[in-house]
Amino acid sequence: MPHKTIAEISKDLANKTYSSEEITQDFLTRIQTHDQQLNSFITVTADLALAQAKAADARRAKGETSLLLGIPIAHKDIFCTKNIRTTCGSRMLDNFISPYNATLVTKLADAGCVLLGKTNMDEFAMGSSNETSFYGICKNPWDLSRVPGGSSGGSAAAVSAGLAPIATGTDTGGSIRQPAAFCGITGLKPTYGRVSRFGMIAFASSLDQAGIMAYSAKDCAILLTAMAGHDPKDSTSADCIVPDYTASLQNSLAGKRIGLPKEYFQQNLNEDVRQVVEQALNEFKKMGATIHEVHLPRTALAVSTYYVVASAECSSNLARYDGVRYGYRCKHPKDLLDLYQRSRAEGFGAEVKRRIMIGAYVLSAESYEAYYLKAQKVRRLISQDFRHAFESVDLIFSPTTPNVAFKLGEKTDPVSMYLSDSFTIPANLAGLPAISIPAGFAKGLPVGVQLISTHFDEALLLNAAHQLQQQTDWHQKEPDTAILPL
Ligand code: GLN
Repeated sequence: MPHKTIAEISKDLANKTYSSEEITQDFLTRIQTHDQQLNSFITVTADLALAQAKAADARRAKGETSLLLGIPIAHKDIFCTKNIRTTCGSRMLDNFISPYNATLVTKLADAGCVLLGKTNMDEFAMGSSNETSFYGICKNPWDLSRVPGGSSGGSAAAVSAGLAPIATGTDTGGSIRQPAAFCGITGLKPTYGRVSRFGMIAFASSLDQAGIMAYSAKDCAILLTAMAGHDPKDSTSADCIVPDYTASLQNSLAGKRIGLPKEYFQQNLNEDVRQVVEQALNEFKKMGATIHEVHLPRTALAVSTYYVVASAECSSNLARYDGVRYGYRCKHPKDLLDLYQRSRAEGFGAEVKRRIMIGAYVLSAESYEAYYLKAQKVRRLISQDFRHAFESVDLIFSPTTPNVAFKLGEKTDPVSMYLSDSFTIPANLAGLPAISIPAGFAKGLPVGVQLISTHFDEALLLNAAHQLQQQTDWHQKEPDTAILPL
């Protein structure tokens, strides 16, 4: 069976082509068959899924018709799920069973979504390849010798391989868009504050945002409509109206002004990727959009700014894992200091420790002004560059990543790993919504293009992405069935 979008599954459920229990069982079987080689799930919640599917079928039998009723979903293992292990990809939380649900989990469960399981991820969402997970590497379904991207690598691989029709992810510097691009699916990072982060384990609080990984922009629109909105439990969630994002998908793009930031098309952009990106741009032109050059002059400063800000915030957020209150505790501590030191030394992996050390350093009295304060100033300038660009265009268009998925184990130097996010990080620093859309292939591997819009205008992003997906079928391409038999 070719992959079905959640819009299609929803229609089939309404037409009684199959029940939620049947389709859920199909996904569980596929997970069982293929996930040994992919490792996209940390936890599979088969019993819960079947019980939720049965409950959804019963609600449908009573006449309920909501779009998400009975739709299977996978959550990134960064979202707290009540009575279900929530690890954040870390040994530190290996034994953590959350006593409560993230708001997003509750909202989607109430809408009738069926939880298939929790997906693999880089430890505490720090990484671009899923290689920092305590639960092992996850592989790219398009080429098992390559990374799926990260940190939401498990969600991207699971959706791309047809093990779940849709999944949640989080994006602090690109963790939804980069793996979506590497795995040939659609990934939406909403505006900072658009979706509640209550129950989403914190990495860098001024950047983190929950979002969606799916086959189509339409599916992202369906899920965002159910996920978005103010949450009294998250003071950073925005109190503004949530539109029905599916209502504007059909709008014409004629006359829409698309900005091309010159800085994203220089230096490190792979030539094959560039060609794919140019083809996608031509599609937008054919639909009547006009193309304009824009300048985002501080683009080259974004990665270094991000690694100061994100590391500073993570060093503070991760201070709570001290072996006392919850999480990993070392064996036989000699005294309190030994308990703290060894619990953290044994519980965290190398990348997380590197970030905590960078963060502690840039926040220290001697270096605060030179690094942290400076980074905050540059961050403001980067935001201003976007504001300025959006005075003359409606959308900004770019490649999602400079290159296609790299080989497992290829990037051993952290800085080269960090640079793979150079096109996604600026939108996080400015809090802007952005989407990655499959746009073709370079040497057999998926390429994604990115659209960025102004704050809270996810509707336009989804509209533009949907229109592109009406003209092209890149989003319908699936990994070779020789690797993953149907
Ligand atoms: N890859 C980036 C990092 O390692 C972004 C991670 C993310 O968005 N969670 O920090």
